[in-house]
Amino acid sequence: MLQSIPKDDNYLHKGLRKQLVQLLRDKGITDERVLAAIDAVPRHFFLDPAFERQAYENRAFPITANQTISHPYTVAFQTQLLDIKKYDKVLEIGTGSAYQACVLGELGITLYTIERQRALYDYVGQFFFLKKYPNIKRFYGDGFEGLPSFAPFDKIIITCGAPFIPPKLVVQLKPGGIMIIPVGEDEKQKMIRITKNKDGTLKQEDLGDFSFVPMLQGKNN
Ligand code: SAH
Repeated sequence: MLQSIPKDDNYLHKGLRKQLVQLLRDKGITDERVLAAIDAVPRHFFLDPAFERQAYENRAFPITANQTISHPYTVAFQTQLLDIKKYDKVLEIGTGSAYQACVLGELGITLYTIERQRALYDYVGQFFFLKKYPNIKRFYGDGFEGLPSFAPFDKIIITCGAPFIPPKLVVQLKPGGIMIIPVGEDEKQKMIRITKNKDGTLKQEDLGDFSFVPMLQGKNN
């Protein structure tokens, strides 16, 4: 699983990453900054060595504590929807392997990311690659609460399937801000883009079906 000793990122990995970027283009990802970020982050670093050869396929994989690292397409799609601007302050719910966090970390933002599984939070803390991103701040906590002391956020991304739109997260979104959240209690969720208008009213758009591990209440020690 994640290792504290650096892994090799060789020409083979880099070549496979270029192919992944092309696949994401073919599937409709157009934001060049997002594609460059995917190209820059060695996804095989985030997986068990057993999956190294498949790391650049468009697949989800198991990580610690029965959780998953999302499909690269899902990561690219959510990131593109966030419409990141340099210096944005972004909140992520569900750090997981920290792959999505590092893709965001490439984009010149400050990221606050919350994980509710203690084992996963501790594990990621030993992950050498995160040292590259002093702009990523990690928190162990319950994403339903958000981070009121660091709010408001320009953007909020939820990377687990939420049973409903958490009201506290809506409060912590800046006017003019965007939240990308998969909503649904079963296997499938609808990807919802919430835009908070300057007057505080909300616009909601449904952007298709996805499948995530559930967003759960409270912390798990
Ligand atoms: N962004 C991650 C995806 C991990 S899967 C990645 O790139 O790997 C979703 C993660 O959300 C899991 O690690 C799960 O433990 C976490 N999660 C679920 N409910 C949560 C909550 N209420 N608060 C914070 N994290 C939560």
